Amino acid sequence: MTSQVDVPQSYPICDLFASIQGEATWAGRAMLFLRFSGCPLSCPWCDEPRHKDPNAVRSLTAHAILAELRQAEPTLSALLLTGGEPLAIPGLAQLVAFLKEQGYWLAMETSGVGGTIPPGLDWITLSPKTPLPESVFARANELKYVVGATPTARQSAEIQQRARSHGTVWVQPQADGTLNAAGQEQINPLALQQCLYHIKQSAGQIRLSLQTHKWVGLP
Ligand code: SF4
Repeated sequence: MTSQVDVPQSYPICDLFASIQGEATWAGRAMLFLRFSGCPLSCPWCDEPRHKDPNAVRSLTAHAILAELRQAEPTLSALLLTGGEPLAIPGLAQLVAFLKEQGYWLAMETSGVGGTIPPGLDWITLSPKTPLPESVFARANELKYVVGATPTARQSAEIQQRARSHGTVWVQPQADGTLNAAGQEQINPLALQQCLYHIKQSAGQIRLSLQTHKWVGLP
């Protein structure tokens, strides 16, 4: 399809692949994944080190991205924009408009930091790491809190408050930085306990999200 959207710039991409979404609402759904390099935050437990690796980044135009998406899996129309932090990428709104024009169902995972959420997205997973304006929460289809062994009082209070005010809230335990015999990341058991505490406190309103794709060795 020819495009009516002018997208002059290139985008820093560190991963582009087809896989199965393993987390939260869309767990089990086949999707394309487009991972941007760079993030304005530096979470010490970040499990996506490639977004910081200067050797992993490629500069791709919108048309080059489209060509690689079609090559990765031509039958898939669901695409997740992730990172790093997509919101911090200059020209994100133009790329979203371009990919929508090409017929993709577009999801985005974001910390809500680094820029404005563009129009045209079909699904937004907000994974808050810092205090955010209410307008950002209002755009999110689901909230996903990554919970560690010792969450701050602010995060714990926010999770419970959002369970009351927002329809869909997930808690996901941090990994503990070690691998099991199968080479898979281990969940920190204390982080899991914290997640279960939140689920109980919310009378089941909050749900448990696990990185199930990693159990079966998918990216
Ligand atoms: S916001 Fe996400 S991508 Fe950025 S440093 Fe934190 S965990 Fe990593």
